[in-house]
Amino acid sequence: MAKLILNQVAKDFGTGRAAVSGFSLDVREGGFLALLGPSGCGKTTVLRMIAGFETPSDGSIHLGERLLADASQSLPPEKRNMAMVFQSYALWPHMSVADNVGYPLKVRGISGEAYKTKVREALATVRLVDYAERRPADLSGGQRQRVALARCLVTSPDVVLLDEPLANLDRHLKQEMEETFREFHQRSGATMIYVTHDQSEAMALATDVAVMSEGRLLQVAPPAEIYARPEGRMVGGLIGRGAIVTLPVMGGERQLEWDELEGALHAANIDGADILVRPEDVIIGGEGAPATVESVLFEGERYAVKLTLGNGQALRAYSRVAVVPNEAVHVVIRAGWRL
Ligand code: ADP
Ligand code: MG
Repeated sequence: MAKLILNQVAKDFGTGRAAVSGFSLDVREGGFLALLGPSGCGKTTVLRMIAGFETPSDGSIHLGERLLADASQSLPPEKRNMAMVFQSYALWPHMSVADNVGYPLKVRGISGEAYKTKVREALATVRLVDYAERRPADLSGGQRQRVALARCLVTSPDVVLLDEPLANLDRHLKQEMEETFREFHQRSGATMIYVTHDQSEAMALATDVAVMSEGRLLQVAPPAEIYARPEGRMVGGLIGRGAIVTLPVMGGERQLEWDELEGALHAANIDGADILVRPEDVIIGGEGAPATVESVLFEGERYAVKLTLGNGQALRAYSRVAVVPNEAVHVVIRAGWRL
């Protein structure tokens, strides 16, 4: 195993607009990277180039020292020791769970004890040893997805590629599967690249999040860092909730309690700067700036509130006490991040 290195990778399908361009990314061995971005931004294309189903138009892809692809050559998918899990995970209905999982080994000519051991280990990783002789039809949706994962693990791939595997699942099953993926990653030690357009999924699962937009990589960082310090409006808007506040040039009359906000910023000169303010940093009540409640969403443990300040600036806040639309409140911003 080794680090996966994408260097200035581009893909042009000849449509007049490159699907991926100038894409450079290192995925560390054993890491769990989420590739996050809106639909059509090029995530699947990146994944398919890593897997070997597409050839880059420019740049190179290495696994450690080994060149996987550049514009003039490309190692075929079966020689890359990677596994790709698709959105629809086709299992053979007429085969048992164990035979489904062992199928890739059969294709590679592995049999006997080695075959049995690998299948058992793969099933153990997804906690399905007791289901080895069942048919896919006898399993729940989550269990079937675990079979698909075991099948992908059975050949001990260096890299596991997952393309929005949970996109069509209901919320409950999605949560169960997120747990399975995390466990799968911990137990297998495989390097995983997980494509999703769902930022909360990316944050919950991955050790690193790579944010993409329009074929380009915007930022790569661990979830907590990307949440606290997004680089630019695009990443700030894609990750987490919050409001982008453009700081006004200070006039005679202050409209906001900026003191605490300023304290949290690195930049000395903040005139006209864009600041990302998270809802947990907006406190309703006290001596703050006047604001109007626009809408309220009850989330069980708190209220998620949309507000408008006197200058028309939108803000989001969390409140433990109930507020109602059109209510006049006061807000204090505790911290923000300069974009
Ligand atoms: P995502 O997975 O983020 O939704 P894709 O990688 O599927 O995005 O697509 C990125 C862009 O490349 C889109 O504009 C898409 O239409 C285009 N694209 C993808 N595959 C092909 C193809 N085989 N031929 C032409 N255009 C393609
Ligand atoms: Mg896609």
